[in-house]
Amino acid sequence: MFLADTHTHLYIPEMREQIGAMMHRAQHNRVQKFYLPNIDSQSVPDVFSLCDLYPTTCFPMMGLHPCSVNEKFEEELTFIQNYIDEKRVIAIGEIGMDLYWDKIFIEEQKQAFRTQINWAKARKLPIVIHCRDAFDEIYEILVAEKDELLKGIFHCFSGTETQANKIIELGFYLGIGGVLTYKNSGLAEAIKNIDLKHIVLETDSPYLSPVPHRGKPNESSYLLHVAEKLSDVKNCSLDEVAKITSQNAIAIFGV
Ligand SMILES: [Zn+2]
Repeated sequence: MFLADTHTHLYIPEMREQIGAMMHRAQHNRVQKFYLPNIDSQSVPDVFSLCDLYPTTCFPMMGLHPCSVNEKFEEELTFIQNYIDEKRVIAIGEIGMDLYWDKIFIEEQKQAFRTQINWAKARKLPIVIHCRDAFDEIYEILVAEKDELLKGIFHCFSGTETQANKIIELGFYLGIGGVLTYKNSGLAEAIKNIDLKHIVLETDSPYLSPVPHRGKPNESSYLLHVAEKLSDVKNCSLDEVAKITSQNAIAIFGV
């Protein structure tokens, strides 16, 4: 069996010194695929350089994160767009909306999201969605943009069962990470009736470390804790969780 970390920021400069040891620990915990979401123009070279270092296990996404959308978002999009067709970009991400901090750039966030959805459609690439306090806004855009080409992952899903079902109806997958291991998150309850065929695993390293590492920087090797928790929640074997979620990741990204 192997595990696929569908959302990890292992390329960030803070992790560079320990990357060899980190990859070793991930291998030891059977994590063999790493899908890397981009943030903004600054992170582009870091994403590609890690993928160059580990070309058979690390795969780049390109996109502008909603928290990096401001009055200059069009310049950022122009910069990032130049890299979409480069190398082995396997998805547009992470993109979406984040209204947790403030709503100053809500219209810009919507516009950037729609523009990037259309980049994905034009290239038949999946999208990886960041959604924080913006479910209704994102859902409305996805319904408007939905066609047979639009597919992807709701990264770090932490909503309700009703929201999970709405996402699945649109043909999207739920990205499940460390939040599943947090007592009182309600996530185990929300997804216990969701079929594994709609779920992929992720760490979102270096954020959101699962129990028992909560509060410390996250890394992809900790994906095993998420997989183990999911096997408890779904009352099935770890092997089955690994097999189905890894197959799902490959079905979405094509690698
Ligand atoms: Zn992320």
